Amino acid sequence: MPFKKNVFLLGAGASADAGAPLMWNFLQTAQALLRDPRSGLDDEERKRFESVFRYQFQLRKAQAFVDVDLDNIEDLFGVLDLDERVGQPGAKAARENLVFLIVRTLELTIGRTELHPVYWEPDPSRNVNAWDRFAQVVARVPVAKNDRRASLVKTEPDSIVTFNYDTLIDAAMLRSAVHPEFCLGDADDRRTSPASAAKIRLIKLHGSAGWSHCPLCDDDRVYVFDDYAGSRAKTCATCNAPLSPLIVPPTWDKGASRSYLAPVWKAAWDEIRTAQRLFIVGYSAPSSDRHFRYFLASALANNYDLQDVVVVTDEAGREKAKTTYGALFTGAAAAHRLHFPEAHGFVNFVSNYLWHFVGGPG
Ligand SMILES: [Zn+2]
Repeated sequence: MPFKKNVFLLGAGASADAGAPLMWNFLQTAQALLRDPRSGLDDEERKRFESVFRYQFQLRKAQAFVDVDLDNIEDLFGVLDLDERVGQPGAKAARENLVFLIVRTLELTIGRTELHPVYWEPDPSRNVNAWDRFAQVVARVPVAKNDRRASLVKTEPDSIVTFNYDTLIDAAMLRSAVHPEFCLGDADDRRTSPASAAKIRLIKLHGSAGWSHCPLCDDDRVYVFDDYAGSRAKTCATCNAPLSPLIVPPTWDKGASRSYLAPVWKAAWDEIRTAQRLFIVGYSAPSSDRHFRYFLASALANNYDLQDVVVVTDEAGREKAKTTYGALFTGAAAAHRLHFPEAHGFVNFVSNYLWHFVGGPG
């Protein structure tokens, strides 16, 4: 029987190997960049970082009354997002600056790290980094002559659903001549790279450092660039205001007042609903993220093809993941479907395990 498709769901852990900070140490990392005179931040950028930390300091006064972890980037982003929506003075600028801090921190930390090579080709000149290899496997780009794995029969292309703001996978796909399909509806696509024949859905649930919108115009127009650097100094086609990265906090899902990302979430639901094998990489499914748990439950309740769920963590997170996902996927049938490969994070998984799982059914 032909295999239908794999769907890869990526969390922050999938970018951590490239140097991206995690939620709990994101603000510490941004602080370190601010303190380091050689971090690459200019004076204007430093002011924007500082204004975020000032706002955080103000919020701390109220922290005695509520249980919010303001040192966690997700919580801080969520609070600022709400503050802006209710018109709290200074919140709009602070939110803009926080969005800037997030994408700039990702740019500086990921840019600083050597990407990890994957060694498994007989010909060393074909070695590539783990993100490129991942993109090639997902898109079935043949990496060698007579690569039989590239011709495995599948009835639908694989796809990637990610919570991450960074453009690691986007860039890897472009280097491998694979065109990321963002499922944004009719976005204003300003990517410089030509669309190639191979297309893979790259569904970014919380937005992307490479996507922008106008902070002033009350419309749903989304501009798409190759990455954050490509969007710099670009302005709104309507009002000429500088564009702002389109990223949203995880809390955004609950009170979505804007339709920017509605087609993206719909596409993710369709993908998970039709996955035959679902990979969950570097995402811990925290109980606080109830919205996504419901989303997953809803999509999987309508999935009649699901055979396996492969959960990839680092070593430290594996036992906890077994508990979390064991509870999430209940029932005897589900227990047989859950796999926890002994991989140590994303790079190790791509290097040593990915083909074993993707190589076909059974
Ligand atoms: Zn505008």
